Amino acid sequence: MAYLSTDKVEHHFHDVVIVGSGGAGMRCALQLADAGHRVAVVTKVLPTRSHTVAAQGGINASLGNVASDHWHWHMYDTVKGSDYLGDQDAIEYMCRAAPLLVRELEHQGVPFSRLDDGRIYQRPFGGQSREFGEGGQASRTCAAADRTGHAILHSLYQQNLRAGTHFYQEFFALDLITGDDGCQGLMAWDIARGEYHLFQAKAVILATGGAGRVFRVTTNAHICTGDGGALTLAAGLPMEDMEFFQFHPTGIADVGPLITEGVRGEGGYLINANGERFMERYAPTAKDLASRDVVSRAIAQEIREGRGCGPKKDHVLLKLDHLGEELIMSKLPNIHELALRFADVDCTKDPVPVQPTVHYTMGGIPTNRFGEVVYSKGRNKEVVFPGLYAIGEAACVSVHGANRLGGNSLLEIVVFGRACGNQVMKHLREHRYHAQLDVDCWQRGAERVERWLSSARDRREGPSIADVRLRMQTIMQEHFGVYRTEELMAEGVARLESLAGEMDRAVISDGCGLFNTELVEALELENLMALARVTAAGALARRESRGAHARDDYPERDDERWMRHTLATLDSEGVKLGYKPVRTSPMTVESFPPKKRVY
Ligand SMILES: Cc1cc2nc3c(=O)[nH]c(=O)nc-3n(C[C@H](O)[C@H](O)[C@H](O)COP(=O)(O)OP(=O)(O)OC[C@H]3O[C@@H](n4cnc5c(N)ncnc54)[C@H](O)[C@@H]3O)c2cc1C
Repeated sequence: MAYLSTDKVEHHFHDVVIVGSGGAGMRCALQLADAGHRVAVVTKVLPTRSHTVAAQGGINASLGNVASDHWHWHMYDTVKGSDYLGDQDAIEYMCRAAPLLVRELEHQGVPFSRLDDGRIYQRPFGGQSREFGEGGQASRTCAAADRTGHAILHSLYQQNLRAGTHFYQEFFALDLITGDDGCQGLMAWDIARGEYHLFQAKAVILATGGAGRVFRVTTNAHICTGDGGALTLAAGLPMEDMEFFQFHPTGIADVGPLITEGVRGEGGYLINANGERFMERYAPTAKDLASRDVVSRAIAQEIREGRGCGPKKDHVLLKLDHLGEELIMSKLPNIHELALRFADVDCTKDPVPVQPTVHYTMGGIPTNRFGEVVYSKGRNKEVVFPGLYAIGEAACVSVHGANRLGGNSLLEIVVFGRACGNQVMKHLREHRYHAQLDVDCWQRGAERVERWLSSARDRREGPSIADVRLRMQTIMQEHFGVYRTEELMAEGVARLESLAGEMDRAVISDGCGLFNTELVEALELENLMALARVTAAGALARRESRGAHARDDYPERDDERWMRHTLATLDSEGVKLGYKPVRTSPMTVESFPPKKRVY
């Protein structure tokens, strides 16, 4: 149904359109703009409000500034951390490139904390080892106090302004324009002015970040609604490994804001209601610095067995007062402020109440290590979808597999932001002209907006966005949490599918076109719902425990049947699941075969 005439749509031409101005989008934009291409960055918030700004603890690179280190050990830790679901070619590429990319960030203006001799400060983080696990704890995480993401994002933004990148801020991406030749552009909505914009491009890059808001308690910002993934599903392409959501062990109890793993890296530790350092029982060697899935399960287990703290016995305590006020105020000032503001605790004196909180989307839009979006054709044949790319937390390349190591995500966004930029340049050499678009290619995107606005103008009756969203988040939280079972998840899938049916009846009350935040939330909820459905279906089907996906009824990892990636598509008939093998061959070194993961 045509709602609008073409003159209501502003038409832009760029070589490349990047959706997202987080670290991934900005690093990629910089690579392309510096090479002289006409680059647009479309972002639904002001560029420096992207979630990258909230990253605290740091970025991994085997600089070896504090203790000896090697990229190969970093690779080993990442493969092991991924519970052998990570693709080893991409992991090798990332770990080898890390030192270069971190030094490059320093030259671009990131004010890293320093050692006394002037080199970049590095702190220990979870799951880091030397000599392939035999040489003890590594110190691999480069930090700018506990505001590393803030420093990186602002530096990259400034570099992009210098390079002449075009920013379209507070624009909401509605739909991908795809045809036989692949992706040709994007339809977007200017939130402030209430106008439609058609971006025509030779390449479109999705850098839309994670989808933590699928759950109720999360460290993720309200804008982390997985929009790029939903656009990919709507284009008929799959999402990969969405059942793997990382629970960070130390979100502030009840509310969710993150207390960085850097606190434990600096010497903080967890205690239960008896004042016992319980991690010694679960991970005798790495203790509080075991990988995140292990620590989260340990906390959940303590709470289950009645050793939780507080009146509801539903959290544990993170003790750091023994580190001293001077260290806390110089290395962890942001944590001090967060604990005061959200838990009313002065962490220089008292421990902070914490619980596992949804933190990171390991799954995402399937790509190869050049950032090209791929899908499966026939059995085991992977093909590239031309003109469409994905990077950062929105993508699944997959370097994190079933569990991400702290400090590897800021690394991923710069490494693959740059790699994708380089690959797009090759594509641009072969695609010098814009494609011819269908005259009504923008209608599907516009309909998304018009449907919601008309629900308000016609004063239709129905459930509100806030109501449906809360119900969806509660289902995900209750049925797809740290521990999962067949029965629990099957019930969750049924509840979710019936709730998804209610989306057709949902309404908004504000029918104004200008800065309509309720409309934006409605569009985001559509996206969240699609991702929740593929997450739930993928989780129910995976009958094993691996990384962040822990099942009481299948407590062991099953490499024979399940060392493979889930691929989920979504259409009017519901979710369909397929699978593809893990890429176990690295580029130049021998592969790390699966073995039991102990810390
Ligand atoms: C609290 C917190 C702390 C963290 N700390 C660390 C850490 O110390 N170390 C580490 O390695 N990792 C950390 N992480 C993870 C890491 O910060 C993120 O994975 C990473 O920054 C994601 O970057 P990104 O560029 O992919 O996406 P984001 O920074 O999330 O940016 C997404 C962009 O997409 C845009 N966008 C989304 N949807 C649309 C749409 N429909 N239309 C237009 N624009 C859209 C947004 O406006 C935004 O610009 C942390 C995460 C959190 C939540």
